[in-house]
Amino acid sequence: MEAERTAMKGRVGLVPTMGALHEGHLSLIRRARQDNDHLVVTVFVNPAQFGPQEDFAAYPRDLDRDLRLLEAEGVDVVFAPPPEEIYPPGFDEWVEISGPLTSTLEGAFRPGHLRGVTTVVARLFRIVRPQRAYFGEKDAQQLRVVRRMVEEQRLSVEVIGLPTVREPDGLAMSSRNAYLSQEERRAALVVPRALALARRMVEAEGVRDAAAVRRAAEELLRGEPRARIDYAAVADRETLEELTEIDRPALLLLAVRIGATRLIDNVALTPRSP
Ligand code: AMP
Repeated sequence: MEAERTAMKGRVGLVPTMGALHEGHLSLIRRARQDNDHLVVTVFVNPAQFGPQEDFAAYPRDLDRDLRLLEAEGVDVVFAPPPEEIYPPGFDEWVEISGPLTSTLEGAFRPGHLRGVTTVVARLFRIVRPQRAYFGEKDAQQLRVVRRMVEEQRLSVEVIGLPTVREPDGLAMSSRNAYLSQEERRAALVVPRALALARRMVEAEGVRDAAAVRRAAEELLRGEPRARIDYAAVADRETLEELTEIDRPALLLLAVRIGATRLIDNVALTPRSP
Protein backbone atom coordinates (compact mmCIF):
# COMPACT_ATOMS: atom_id res chain seq x y z
CA MET A 1 0.00 0.00 0.00
CA GLU A 2 2.77 2.42 0.90
CA ALA A 3 4.59 1.74 -2.38
CA GLU A 4 1.38 2.26 -4.36
CA ARG A 5 0.75 5.48 -2.48
CA THR A 6 4.20 6.85 -3.12
CA ALA A 7 3.68 6.37 -6.85
CA MET A 8 0.44 8.38 -6.83
CA LYS A 9 0.56 11.96 -8.11
CA GLY A 10 -2.23 14.41 -7.39
CA ARG A 11 -5.16 14.12 -5.03
CA VAL A 12 -5.82 10.89 -3.20
CA GLY A 13 -9.26 10.07 -1.80
CA LEU A 14 -9.85 7.36 0.81
CA VAL A 15 -13.05 5.50 1.68
CA PRO A 16 -12.60 3.29 4.76
CA THR A 17 -15.07 0.38 4.97
CA MET A 18 -15.57 -2.94 6.70
CA GLY A 19 -16.67 -4.52 3.41
CA ALA A 20 -19.95 -6.34 2.68
CA LEU A 21 -20.47 -3.36 0.43
CA HIS A 22 -23.86 -1.83 -0.33
CA GLU A 23 -25.17 1.29 -2.06
CA GLY A 24 -24.31 3.41 1.00
CA HIS A 25 -20.64 2.56 0.58
CA LEU A 26 -20.89 2.98 -3.19
CA SER A 27 -22.27 6.50 -2.81
CA LEU A 28 -19.13 7.48 -0.87
CA ILE A 29 -16.94 5.74 -3.43
CA ARG A 30 -18.61 7.46 -6.40
CA ARG A 31 -18.23 10.87 -4.83
CA ALA A 32 -14.61 10.16 -3.94
CA ARG A 33 -13.96 8.93 -7.49
CA GLN A 34 -15.27 12.24 -8.90
CA ASP A 35 -13.34 14.43 -6.47
CA ASN A 36 -9.86 12.88 -6.67
CA ASP A 37 -7.11 11.73 -9.04
CA HIS A 38 -6.65 8.46 -7.16
CA LEU A 39 -9.03 6.46 -5.04
CA VAL A 40 -8.15 4.00 -2.29
CA VAL A 41 -10.80 1.89 -0.58
CA THR A 42 -9.95 -0.06 2.54
CA VAL A 43 -11.82 -3.24 3.44
CA PHE A 44 -10.96 -4.09 7.03
CA VAL A 45 -13.22 -5.57 9.68
CA ASN A 46 -11.49 -3.79 12.53
CA PRO A 47 -11.32 -6.07 15.59
CA ALA A 48 -10.50 -3.10 17.84
CA GLN A 49 -13.94 -1.55 17.40
CA PHE A 50 -15.90 -4.65 18.45
CA GLY A 51 -16.60 -5.49 22.07
CA PRO A 52 -15.95 -9.04 23.36
CA GLN A 53 -19.67 -9.89 23.22
CA GLU A 54 -20.22 -8.30 19.81
CA ASP A 55 -20.46 -9.68 16.28
CA PHE A 56 -16.81 -9.52 15.07
CA ALA A 57 -16.69 -13.23 14.13
CA ALA A 58 -20.15 -13.20 12.54
CA TYR A 59 -19.73 -9.88 10.70
CA PRO A 60 -20.53 -10.46 6.98
CA ARG A 61 -17.43 -10.86 4.81
CA ASP A 62 -17.31 -11.38 1.03
CA LEU A 63 -14.07 -9.96 -0.33
CA ASP A 64 -14.50 -11.47 -3.82
CA ARG A 65 -17.83 -9.74 -4.29
CA ASP A 66 -16.47 -6.48 -2.81
CA LEU A 67 -13.51 -6.56 -5.21
CA ARG A 68 -15.80 -7.01 -8.22
CA LEU A 69 -17.92 -4.03 -7.13
CA LEU A 70 -14.86 -1.89 -6.44
CA GLU A 71 -13.29 -2.73 -9.78
CA ALA A 72 -16.51 -1.67 -11.54
CA GLU A 73 -16.35 1.69 -9.69
CA GLY A 74 -12.84 2.36 -10.98
CA VAL A 75 -11.10 2.14 -7.60
CA ASP A 76 -7.30 2.30 -8.00
CA VAL A 77 -6.24 0.35 -4.93
CA VAL A 78 -8.15 -1.84 -2.49
CA PHE A 79 -6.26 -2.19 0.78
CA ALA A 80 -7.52 -5.24 2.67
CA PRO A 81 -4.82 -5.99 5.24
CA PRO A 82 -4.80 -8.92 7.66
CA PRO A 83 -5.36 -7.72 11.25
CA GLU A 84 -1.74 -8.31 12.31
CA GLU A 85 -0.55 -5.83 9.69
CA ILE A 86 -2.60 -3.07 11.34
CA TYR A 87 -2.07 -4.38 14.88
CA PRO A 88 1.37 -6.00 15.08
CA PRO A 89 2.21 -7.96 18.25
CA GLY A 90 2.71 -5.57 21.16
CA PHE A 91 0.67 -2.84 19.49
CA ASP A 92 -0.06 -0.03 21.95
CA GLU A 93 -0.66 3.15 19.97
CA TRP A 94 -4.26 3.84 20.80
CA VAL A 95 -5.76 7.07 19.53
CA GLU A 96 -8.56 8.18 21.80
CA ILE A 97 -10.75 11.26 21.93
CA SER A 98 -11.99 12.06 25.43
CA GLY A 99 -14.89 14.20 26.59
CA PRO A 100 -18.62 14.38 25.92
CA LEU A 101 -18.30 13.64 22.20
CA THR A 102 -17.20 10.07 22.99
CA SER A 103 -18.73 9.39 26.41
CA THR A 104 -22.37 9.48 25.23
CA LEU A 105 -24.51 7.52 22.74
CA GLU A 106 -22.35 4.82 21.07
CA GLY A 107 -19.57 5.66 23.53
CA ALA A 108 -21.86 4.82 26.45
CA PHE A 109 -23.31 1.63 24.94
CA ARG A 110 -20.20 0.24 23.23
CA PRO A 111 -17.21 0.79 25.53
CA GLY A 112 -14.00 1.03 23.49
CA HIS A 113 -15.83 1.16 20.16
CA LEU A 114 -15.00 4.77 19.28
CA ARG A 115 -11.42 4.32 20.49
CA GLY A 116 -11.16 1.39 18.07
CA VAL A 117 -12.52 3.56 15.27
CA THR A 118 -10.17 6.51 15.86
CA THR A 119 -7.20 4.19 16.25
CA VAL A 120 -7.79 2.40 12.96
CA VAL A 121 -8.70 5.55 11.04
CA ALA A 122 -5.56 7.32 12.28
CA ARG A 123 -3.47 4.33 11.20
CA LEU A 124 -5.15 4.13 7.79
CA PHE A 125 -4.63 7.87 7.31
CA ARG A 126 -0.92 7.51 8.09
CA ILE A 127 -0.52 4.60 5.66
CA VAL A 128 -2.64 5.95 2.79
CA ARG A 129 -1.96 9.69 3.33
CA PRO A 130 -5.16 10.81 1.59
CA GLN A 131 -6.03 14.47 0.97
CA ARG A 132 -9.69 13.62 1.49
CA ALA A 133 -11.58 10.90 3.33
CA TYR A 134 -15.28 10.10 3.04
CA PHE A 135 -17.66 8.98 5.80
CA GLY A 136 -21.41 8.46 6.07
CA GLU A 137 -23.75 10.62 8.16
CA LYS A 138 -25.47 7.38 9.17
CA ASP A 139 -22.68 6.93 11.69
CA ALA A 140 -23.06 10.52 12.87
CA GLN A 141 -21.03 10.24 16.05
CA GLN A 142 -18.23 8.38 14.26
CA LEU A 143 -18.03 11.16 11.65
CA ARG A 144 -17.77 13.86 14.32
CA VAL A 145 -15.23 11.92 16.35
CA VAL A 146 -13.07 11.36 13.26
CA ARG A 147 -13.21 15.10 12.52
CA ARG A 148 -12.08 15.85 16.08
CA MET A 149 -9.33 13.25 15.84
CA VAL A 150 -8.00 14.85 12.64
CA GLU A 151 -7.86 18.22 14.42
CA GLU A 152 -6.23 16.86 17.58
CA GLN A 153 -3.65 14.82 15.65
CA ARG A 154 -3.06 17.66 13.16
CA LEU A 155 -3.58 15.28 10.24
CA SER A 156 -4.04 17.21 7.02
CA VAL A 157 -7.04 15.26 5.77
CA GLU A 158 -10.30 16.86 4.68
CA VAL A 159 -13.11 14.77 6.18
CA ILE A 160 -16.23 14.73 4.02
CA GLY A 161 -19.57 13.55 5.40
CA LEU A 162 -22.25 12.30 2.99
CA PRO A 163 -25.97 11.59 3.41
CA THR A 164 -27.44 8.26 4.45
CA VAL A 165 -28.53 6.02 1.59
CA ARG A 166 -31.81 4.22 2.30
CA GLU A 167 -33.77 1.29 0.93
CA PRO A 168 -36.92 2.36 -0.95
CA ASP A 169 -38.98 1.75 2.23
CA GLY A 170 -36.72 4.01 4.32
CA LEU A 171 -34.48 1.52 6.16
CA ALA A 172 -30.91 2.82 6.20
CA MET A 173 -28.58 0.54 4.28
CA SER A 174 -26.23 -1.38 6.54
CA SER A 175 -24.12 -4.50 6.25
CA ARG A 176 -25.87 -5.67 9.43
CA ASN A 177 -29.28 -5.67 7.72
CA ALA A 178 -28.21 -9.07 6.36
CA TYR A 179 -28.76 -10.47 9.88
CA LEU A 180 -32.48 -9.60 9.86
CA SER A 181 -35.08 -12.32 9.29
CA GLN A 182 -38.02 -11.41 7.09
CA GLU A 183 -40.13 -10.59 10.15
CA GLU A 184 -37.34 -8.54 11.72
CA ARG A 185 -36.75 -6.70 8.46
CA ARG A 186 -40.39 -5.59 8.57
CA ALA A 187 -40.14 -4.69 12.27
CA ALA A 188 -36.99 -2.61 11.58
CA LEU A 189 -39.09 -0.12 9.62
CA VAL A 190 -40.15 1.31 12.96
CA VAL A 191 -36.75 3.05 13.04
CA PRO A 192 -37.17 5.23 9.92
CA ARG A 193 -40.79 5.79 10.97
CA ALA A 194 -39.67 7.18 14.33
CA LEU A 195 -37.19 9.46 12.56
CA ALA A 196 -39.85 10.70 10.16
CA LEU A 197 -42.26 11.37 13.02
CA ALA A 198 -39.65 13.46 14.84
CA ARG A 199 -38.84 15.43 11.73
CA ARG A 200 -42.52 16.11 11.10
CA MET A 201 -43.01 17.34 14.66
CA VAL A 202 -40.08 19.74 14.47
CA GLU A 203 -40.25 20.90 10.89
CA ALA A 204 -43.99 20.82 10.09
CA GLU A 205 -45.54 21.35 13.53
CA GLY A 206 -42.86 23.63 14.97
CA VAL A 207 -42.29 21.59 18.16
CA ARG A 208 -39.15 22.75 20.01
CA ASP A 209 -39.42 20.68 23.21
CA ALA A 210 -36.69 18.07 22.77
CA ALA A 211 -38.13 15.72 25.40
CA ALA A 212 -41.52 15.73 23.66
CA VAL A 213 -39.90 14.77 20.36
CA ARG A 214 -37.77 12.07 21.98
CA ARG A 215 -40.76 10.64 23.86
CA ALA A 216 -42.87 10.51 20.71
CA ALA A 217 -40.12 8.60 18.91
CA GLU A 218 -39.68 6.24 21.88
CA GLU A 219 -43.41 5.59 22.06
CA LEU A 220 -43.55 4.67 18.40
CA LEU A 221 -40.54 2.35 18.84
CA ARG A 222 -42.14 0.70 21.89
CA GLY A 223 -45.18 -0.10 19.78
CA GLU A 224 -43.03 -2.63 17.91
CA PRO A 225 -42.67 -5.71 20.15
CA ARG A 226 -39.41 -6.84 18.45
CA ALA A 227 -37.68 -3.50 19.06
CA ARG A 228 -35.52 -2.69 22.11
CA ILE A 229 -34.23 0.86 22.51
CA ASP A 230 -30.57 1.37 23.46
CA TYR A 231 -30.95 5.13 23.21
CA ALA A 232 -33.01 7.87 21.63
CA ALA A 233 -31.47 11.33 21.92
CA VAL A 234 -32.12 14.79 20.57
CA ALA A 235 -28.73 16.48 20.35
CA ASP A 236 -26.88 19.45 18.94
CA ARG A 237 -25.97 18.56 15.36
CA GLU A 238 -22.28 19.36 15.80
CA THR A 239 -21.36 18.69 19.44
CA LEU A 240 -23.95 15.91 19.99
CA GLU A 241 -24.74 17.41 23.39
CA GLU A 242 -28.29 16.65 24.41
CA LEU A 243 -30.75 19.52 24.00
CA THR A 244 -33.73 20.53 26.09
CA GLU A 245 -34.92 23.01 23.47
CA ILE A 246 -34.50 22.49 19.75
CA ASP A 247 -33.34 26.05 19.11
CA ARG A 248 -30.53 25.19 16.68
CA PRO A 249 -29.75 22.49 14.08
CA ALA A 250 -30.17 19.13 15.82
CA LEU A 251 -30.22 15.39 15.26
CA LEU A 252 -32.43 12.65 16.59
CA LEU A 253 -30.07 9.70 17.09
CA LEU A 254 -31.42 6.19 17.60
CA ALA A 255 -29.85 2.87 18.49
CA VAL A 256 -32.39 0.06 18.43
CA ARG A 257 -32.01 -3.69 18.72
CA ILE A 258 -34.30 -5.79 16.55
CA GLY A 259 -33.84 -9.33 17.83
CA ALA A 260 -30.05 -9.79 17.99
CA THR A 261 -29.33 -7.07 15.42
CA ARG A 262 -28.36 -3.61 16.56
CA LEU A 263 -29.30 -0.79 14.19
CA ILE A 264 -28.31 2.87 14.41
CA ASP A 265 -29.80 5.71 12.44
CA ASN A 266 -30.41 9.44 12.74
CA VAL A 267 -32.22 12.34 11.15
CA ALA A 268 -31.50 16.05 10.95
CA LEU A 269 -34.02 18.25 12.78
CA THR A 270 -34.03 21.88 11.70
CA PRO A 271 -36.20 24.16 13.86
CA ARG A 272 -38.47 26.62 12.09
CA SER A 273 -37.40 30.20 12.49
CA PRO A 274 -39.56 31.80 15.22
P1 AMP B 1 -18.92 0.35 7.52
O1 AMP B 1 -18.47 -0.58 6.44
O2 AMP B 1 -20.25 0.01 8.08
O3 AMP B 1 -17.86 0.61 8.55
O4 AMP B 1 -19.16 1.76 6.81
C1 AMP B 1 -18.15 2.37 6.05
C2 AMP B 1 -18.56 3.78 5.72
O5 AMP B 1 -19.79 3.77 4.99
C3 AMP B 1 -18.81 4.62 6.98
O6 AMP B 1 -18.32 5.92 6.78
C4 AMP B 1 -20.31 4.60 7.09
O7 AMP B 1 -20.84 5.74 7.75
C5 AMP B 1 -20.71 4.60 5.63
N1 AMP B 1 -22.08 4.09 5.48
C6 AMP B 1 -22.59 2.95 6.00
N2 AMP B 1 -23.89 2.83 5.69
C7 AMP B 1 -24.22 3.92 4.95
C8 AMP B 1 -25.43 4.39 4.34
N3 AMP B 1 -26.57 3.69 4.41
N4 AMP B 1 -25.38 5.56 3.67
C9 AMP B 1 -24.23 6.27 3.60
N5 AMP B 1 -23.07 5.88 4.14
C10 AMP B 1 -23.06 4.73 4.82
